[in-house]
Amino acid sequence: MNPGTYRSVSDPGQDRIFITFDIDWASDPVFADTIDLVEGHGIPATWFVTHETGLLGRLERNPVFEIGIHPNFNEMFEGRSEEGGMQGLLTRYRELAPSAVSIRCHSLAQNNKMLDIFIRLGFTHDVNLFIPAQSKMELQPFTSWGGLIRVPYFWEEDVHCLFLEEGRENDWNPARFLDAPGLKIFNFHPIHVFLNTEHLSRYDRTRAYHRDREALIGHRNPDPAGGTRYFLETLITEAKKRNMDFGLIREIAVA
Ligand SMILES: [Zn+2]
Repeated sequence: MNPGTYRSVSDPGQDRIFITFDIDWASDPVFADTIDLVEGHGIPATWFVTHETGLLGRLERNPVFEIGIHPNFNEMFEGRSEEGGMQGLLTRYRELAPSAVSIRCHSLAQNNKMLDIFIRLGFTHDVNLFIPAQSKMELQPFTSWGGLIRVPYFWEEDVHCLFLEEGRENDWNPARFLDAPGLKIFNFHPIHVFLNTEHLSRYDRTRAYHRDREALIGHRNPDPAGGTRYFLETLITEAKKRNMDFGLIREIAVA
């Protein structure tokens, strides 16, 4: 087994986490802020990109980063015609990152026909299954038809915000997620990292400033012990303290 291979939960040596980002059309200053943070910690990360920007070159130049794609089917599903249908849309996103092998769709869009297209376009890792850590399921990757590796993930900041609102979570301490057995994949969005989002209302009421870095700075959540940015920083620090490895989605193999 090569060092990048995901080790099954029965393997006591399993000590790996995966940090991923959905870019969601973030403005360059907001996107760059997250890249700065991650590069500051010198850790591997997987970036699901949405649009052309000079910052893709910066991601490419970092040898411990992986670039995947994050296509948006929402308008198509709501009735807008898309040239070439699903395949046409995916082919255009594919051009953003010609060598990408990992894919997660915006809003987690998926259906079986789409999975077939992923395979045809050369994707090997699908990350469209969200199964919250609260399910207490030990997540494992598995191989679907056509050899596609389906990679479930268990934490995302916007869902954490919703669970906090519903009283199903109490704080932003990442320790219990690191303690969980099984595959541990975390997902973040640069806008929430920038805002240190602790409640989705912060995101909604700052929409007018999402592309204005200077204005947005004044709207950050100032809590030094809570919010998305705090969680990300603490997660990285705590995982390092525990000597855990940071993996890339493309390295995940099915035992
Ligand atoms: Zn998205």
